[in-house]
Amino acid sequence: MKITDVRTAVVEANYDWTFVRVYTDRDIVGLGESFLAPGLTAIIRDLKPLLVGEDPRNVDRLWSKMRWAASAAGSLAGVVHNAMSGIEAALWDITGRYYNAPIHQMLGGKYRDQVRIYADCHAGEALEALTPLMIARRPSWMTEEGEEALSVTAEINHPVHGRAYGKPSADEVFTPEMYARRAKEVAEMGFTALKFDLDVPNPYTLDTYSGTLTHAEVRYMASLVEAVRGAVGDPVDIAFDCHWRYNVSDAQRLAHELEPYGLLWLEDPVPPENVEAMRRVTRSTKTPISSGENYYMRFGFREALEREALNVIAPDLQKTGGLLEGRKIADMADAHYVAVAPHCIASPVGTIASAHVAAAIPNFLALEWHGMSVPFWNDMVTGVDGPVIRDGYVSVPDAPGLGVELNEELARRYAKAGEPFF
Ligand code: MG
Repeated sequence: MKITDVRTAVVEANYDWTFVRVYTDRDIVGLGESFLAPGLTAIIRDLKPLLVGEDPRNVDRLWSKMRWAASAAGSLAGVVHNAMSGIEAALWDITGRYYNAPIHQMLGGKYRDQVRIYADCHAGEALEALTPLMIARRPSWMTEEGEEALSVTAEINHPVHGRAYGKPSADEVFTPEMYARRAKEVAEMGFTALKFDLDVPNPYTLDTYSGTLTHAEVRYMASLVEAVRGAVGDPVDIAFDCHWRYNVSDAQRLAHELEPYGLLWLEDPVPPENVEAMRRVTRSTKTPISSGENYYMRFGFREALEREALNVIAPDLQKTGGLLEGRKIADMADAHYVAVAPHCIASPVGTIASAHVAAAIPNFLALEWHGMSVPFWNDMVTGVDGPVIRDGYVSVPDAPGLGVELNEELARRYAKAGEPFF
């Protein structure tokens, strides 16, 4: 069997869902998804000559071939790995279809038939759509004829995550009541684990670049957490994300303040590149600390695991290097008795690919779902009975390969203007 072509399509949803199809001379086509990035589809097209003519079943060797071909473009980390991750998943889809085996079977087989989902809860109701640089936008399919396709204006041209976001206006502030209401709604949908952003605009923000927290901000954040715990009680696990915003001592203060609420984890309280800083936060608190969505490959996780700097790791399998790389990262974490909660902001294609890995690793905790505000999320694939996520779980498909197909008609309807569609 030989690879004949590699093509992409992008759906403009809450994020750019970037789909990869790998074609073969055997009437088998593989489907994968890559984590969004600027210039991503061009990189996938640039990787194609490395793959055409190769046997798609040699997944690990082709992965190494792509990685080392990218040595000048970033063999240690970076968006080439996002591209490789989607391609790698598509190669597993082909291999599974060829051998009539689901992906999880090729990764060692199932520990579980149902994968527990944690719901990322946006406190608002609206679709929050972001560009690859995390700037708020209106998807092109929402705009009228002749209207500016990408309505990024000077007032909202700041990224929503990290330290660079602008000072909030009063109507952007999230209240404990809003968080409690949202938590209750989502828990009633059957989810046993929820995650909220904690670094949201609050009335006491003085400076969003400094990485510092005022006492009032720490108290406000604790009131958000208290409201969520109060709304869902003890049976539901709750986690909170800080998107790399704070310095060590303020992160320590915050984590300490949140100890009474028994979090599942506090995510990325400090930037991820300084493992020693992270270790200091983790060692100072009973609140479990998580990070990992910005780490690439097992090599990116090695130091944090060896130094016991994290309680939970969160590799993103559409970004870190792919599905087998996810298995390797999980095995490395398992040697340190660390749980894995994969980060996931994908469509059902990437989410189900991640679920195959989640089913096959022993130390799985929960898989993220970030699609609640997207009205067509569950419909983007076919081959599943009912919604992909039901009562807070994904059923791991037993059909060959990925086990689902892209709903091409729907994907075309929400396709991103200016991008090829396969
Ligand atoms: Mg996060």
